[in-house]
Amino acid sequence: MAPEIKYTKLYIDDEWVDAKSGKTFETYNPHDGSVIAKVAEGDKADVDLAVAAAKRAFHRNSEWRQMDASKRGEIIRKFSDLMERDLDYLAELESYNNGMVLKYSKSFVGGAINIARHLAGCTDKITGQTIPADGEVFSYTLRQPVGVCAIILPWNGPIYLFVGKVCTALAAGCTVVVKPAEQTPLSALALAALLTEAGLPKGVVNIINGFGPGAGTSLTHHRDVAKVSFTGSVEVGKLIQIASGESNLKRVTLELGGKSPLIIMNDADLKTAVQFAAHGIFFHQGQVCIAASRLFVQSGIYDKFVEAAVDHAKGIKVGNPTDPETENGPQIDEAMMNTILGYIEKGKREGAKLLCGGNRIGTTGYYIQPTVFGDVTDNMTIAKEEIFGPVQSILKFDTLEEAIERANATNYGLAAGIFTTDLNTAMQFSKHAEAGTVWINTYLQLTPQNPFGGFKESGIGRENSLEGIREFTETKTIVLALPKKV
Ligand code: NAD
Repeated sequence: MAPEIKYTKLYIDDEWVDAKSGKTFETYNPHDGSVIAKVAEGDKADVDLAVAAAKRAFHRNSEWRQMDASKRGEIIRKFSDLMERDLDYLAELESYNNGMVLKYSKSFVGGAINIARHLAGCTDKITGQTIPADGEVFSYTLRQPVGVCAIILPWNGPIYLFVGKVCTALAAGCTVVVKPAEQTPLSALALAALLTEAGLPKGVVNIINGFGPGAGTSLTHHRDVAKVSFTGSVEVGKLIQIASGESNLKRVTLELGGKSPLIIMNDADLKTAVQFAAHGIFFHQGQVCIAASRLFVQSGIYDKFVEAAVDHAKGIKVGNPTDPETENGPQIDEAMMNTILGYIEKGKREGAKLLCGGNRIGTTGYYIQPTVFGDVTDNMTIAKEEIFGPVQSILKFDTLEEAIERANATNYGLAAGIFTTDLNTAMQFSKHAEAGTVWINTYLQLTPQNPFGGFKESGIGRENSLEGIREFTETKTIVLALPKKV
């Protein structure tokens, strides 16, 4: 049964309101393309109101700014408990609006709860330093919240990314205006209601649904927004940097795309490596920034590996995300489905060997068969561009040195992985891989305590953990003159 849609309006200053323009837009279920709801479409006028509310909530005398840091932690903790109470509902909403297979949405909401709990414990551990400065002074630093933050989200992990970013900003003491992706506007509204129920003061969190040009650009150009925390494509990430330069040099952190290499050495445990490699690319139908989208397999096991990978892919059950048997659901929308099918055609045209899949499934919903290409070479489009779909591209290599060189030959640098039983090989690769996260004998393993982010064009800054919180603060140096040095 479809989950109840409780909220469809904008959330500004603790109130559910229509867009000033009165406009709405439709949101869909990718399983069958049906309309779920009409959602208020925010634009500049609404962004102005939301930023003003967030600015008032950030005033030095506001309840939020006067609150003890530990109390901020209590609110985030309470929020995590409320998410746990509503876990089934939130997971259903996510699957319904975004197509994530229900069992995975449940574990993703569980992951979001863990992130919130970790951050709840960080609020009173955001410390500065005392500094033995020259002269007769006492010097120390404070880490203070940066101010009103715009949080701009993609559609592929709406709850997980909302919680990670918003709770990090709140842990630091900031106030926020969130713009969810236009494809997945619903879960952010449900989460805002839970934050309010947890005791967050008025105006601290505001939600403006809408589109990139409009709601998004109004936020990134707004002079009262001190920081943008963005997750999405490289293309839009660059526009956000430009908007910062054209407005008030707002701080920008960017979590962008990837073309992550996974290396399988001859000495790897074949069965385990095949399973992780498949999960690395087929999880959530490949719509994951850290997808293992370039799979380098060493020549000694290449043939055996490819055979096992194809068997695995053929066995993946694709279907309605709410069916408990399902492993892969639909792509987010028709446009993305067609883009992915276009990449598959390019792969075939450029000489990669299609080993299984390659087609749309049915004519309703946006389903694509799990697809495996062998004999992929570095110069092919499918080895260079982020496909964001269930397409495993397998490349052959001979030596570790070659694998490192080829793995790094990309503008991206989000994640990398290696399967090997040789410690030296693992250490060599992890040291030299140009990636923000390197997994050894595992893949896609995210934990709240580890910083996350990208090298090169995969992003700027880090999220999660105390390192992520620091990105939502400014360092202030305080110098106190003393008659005698202490
Ligand atoms: P996208 O860049 O198209 O959109 C992301 C968000 O930006 C949406 O909310 C959109 O409305 C908004 N937006 C679009 N144009 C804008 C503009 N000019 N100014 C301000 N905001 C604007 O990305 P997407 O298609 O929603 O998501 C897929 C991309 O996200 C992939 O590239 C994926 O790799 C990346 N991603 C990265 C991470 C990470 O942590 N590194 C995580 C998830 C997804």
